[in-house]
Amino acid sequence: MLYQPKVDLQTMDWVGVEALMRWENPDRQRIGPDRFIPVAEDSGFIIELGQWAIREACLAAMRWYGEHEKWLTVAVNVSPIQVERSDFVEMVLDTVSQSKMPPRNLEIEITETQFMQHIAGFAPKLQALREHGITVSIDDFGTGYSCLGALQNLPIDCLKIDRCFVTNLDESLVGSEKNRGLFGSIVHLANAMELRTVAEGIETPQQLAIARKLGAEIGQGYYFAKPLEEAALSAAFMAGLDGGKRQQATCPS
Ligand code: C2E
Ligand code: CA
Ligand code: CA
Repeated sequence: MLYQPKVDLQTMDWVGVEALMRWENPDRQRIGPDRFIPVAEDSGFIIELGQWAIREACLAAMRWYGEHEKWLTVAVNVSPIQVERSDFVEMVLDTVSQSKMPPRNLEIEITETQFMQHIAGFAPKLQALREHGITVSIDDFGTGYSCLGALQNLPIDCLKIDRCFVTNLDESLVGSEKNRGLFGSIVHLANAMELRTVAEGIETPQQLAIARKLGAEIGQGYYFAKPLEEAALSAAFMAGLDGGKRQQATCPS
């Protein structure tokens, strides 16, 4: 499991991490989730793998707390195949409880498209998790077909604005004025719904500066750190290689 930091765009502190899975083949080559998750979904292995991801992430958060005396929220991606199961809520709560991590430190990420396709079945389950303090994020927001009217009743805490909107913020791009308008509108929409916002895939100081200016609360992306192994994440944090130090030096406010 790799972990990528999420950064508060006002204070530049690390506020959490997203757990991103990798598969190692017998030659020790790493395979990305875009290749193996669909296979695991087809075979049903995703049930075991998905539970492993939650367990691993919670235990990593506990180790992190032991080492740094600071809680980081861990976000875990879930597949609709997992959420569909009748024991999904119980599985998540049991797994968190076994790890001894306070449930408020777990965040569940589900993509907009997958949530919208199963809204009636998934909403009560995600709400049940929220009643235990777990937070819920809509991933890749803006790429699916959200019914805006439904958004205000969804049991969610956060919108993760898809990377394509962040990439398009660069001023050198044709139509960047409109792109910034679009990004700002998504942030306004989230604010009106009292949802937090994460700008995904920030790669450049310019994207960071514009995302901040347009009011995004949290940022994630290669600019701050690529997904890292747990030890490397901890070392980067200790060495002060977090976005805060770099931001102070390079980012216009
Ligand atoms: P995602 O949840 O949207 O995760 C963000 C993806 O963007 C990750 O790819 C991450 O490495 C990449 N990324 C982060 N910052 C940047 C950036 O600045 N620039 C660029 N170009 N890319 C960036 P990754 O790790 O390959 O994961 C791909 C997708 O696989 C994830 O997309 C998620 O939907 C899925 N996935 C990953 N881990 C799990 C898991 O444990 N369970 C399930 N069900 N799905 C997972
Ligand atoms: Ca995600
Ligand atoms: Ca995403």
